[in-house]
Amino acid sequence: MDTLHLEIKKAYSNILDLLFISDSSSNHRNNTFFAHYLTKLPLRISKDVDVAGVGLSENKDYACLYLGENFLKYSKLEKIAILLHEVYHLICKHPLRRNGRHHLRYNYACDLAINQKILNIPKNGLHVKQFKLPYDLTSEIYYDLLKDDKYLKAIENFIESLENGDLDTHDLWDQLSEENKIKIEAQLNSISEQAKQKCRGNISADLNELINLNKHSNKVHWLSILRKNATNKSTEKKETLKKRNRRYRDNPNIRGHKKSYKSTVTVILDVSGSMSSDFDIAQPLAEIKNLCRQLSTQVDLIQVDTEVKKIEKFSQNSTNFSRSGNGGTLLYPAIEYCIKKNVNIENLVIITDGCIEDYWDNPPKSNVIFLLPGLNKLSLSTDNFPKKPRIFNV
Ligand SMILES: [Zn+2]
Repeated sequence: MDTLHLEIKKAYSNILDLLFISDSSSNHRNNTFFAHYLTKLPLRISKDVDVAGVGLSENKDYACLYLGENFLKYSKLEKIAILLHEVYHLICKHPLRRNGRHHLRYNYACDLAINQKILNIPKNGLHVKQFKLPYDLTSEIYYDLLKDDKYLKAIENFIESLENGDLDTHDLWDQLSEENKIKIEAQLNSISEQAKQKCRGNISADLNELINLNKHSNKVHWLSILRKNATNKSTEKKETLKKRNRRYRDNPNIRGHKKSYKSTVTVILDVSGSMSSDFDIAQPLAEIKNLCRQLSTQVDLIQVDTEVKKIEKFSQNSTNFSRSGNGGTLLYPAIEYCIKKNVNIENLVIITDGCIEDYWDNPPKSNVIFLLPGLNKLSLSTDNFPKKPRIFNV
């Protein structure tokens, strides 16, 4: 091992020590989690990597952290930020979610999605604030926003102006085949769980939610489909005092940008006995909250088992949700109810365990997305649906 190699290793373990001893309150609440996460991630020092990156092991069956010579050039706080940047890429499963997207634009989108969550990101890191992009979206949605040349050009100009080069490399992500994606996904989920246990669950609710939402790397996919459908209608951007800029939350005079969507989202939730454990609804409901946040909207939530139990407005802030049904499962009454009440459904999300009727007389004309837990299948035939529904396991 040469001296450089040892030097990088030493710098890395010093940073781990710092993370381990940080105060578990305030801004550093998640540091112990990150420290445990990094400890479980094999480290490779490589001459081919400039600063940092995540990539595969030699036999390509697990993910590793790669560090290069220029990692040493950053300050302690910046080194922490770079390591957290890599952990966030893995928590969000960014390397597994490229799915044929344009290389550079996807790289920018992923960095934009995570740098806003990290303190002390070095100057060469991309930040949404810099490009006047909205906060709190997924990489897929930033990717779509970057189709607007205005943003892409601004980012490219910024990158060209950099003296230090990129913060990290995403090139190592391209080695992933479909086969090793499955292995890596299992490894990453296991690392998250172990790290959570090691820090005795002392992590922020936001981070915990992010981990859960990204458990299955294909999962956010339904959200971006729904977002596209829901925003196909005309949208208007207005300045509002209600939604404050997140960075200046305490100052009511700074306006945040809020997009208002005219299109509506209706959610039908199967609360029948067969959706037995609370876990079944907890996960999809977390997804719906995420949806409300991403669309800055609330949704109409209809609870149904054999009949409509309850209709309520549901938003990202809804907390005291209670299930009101407990019988067999027929979801068609919810559709009939909407027809009878003349509820104009434009986008419908149906959360069910899949064991429902096998036929609906008058299926909705809207875009329909079914969310089923685990590996469940849908018993309903959707052959007579005017628009072919999309089915996702969450
Ligand atoms: Zn990155």
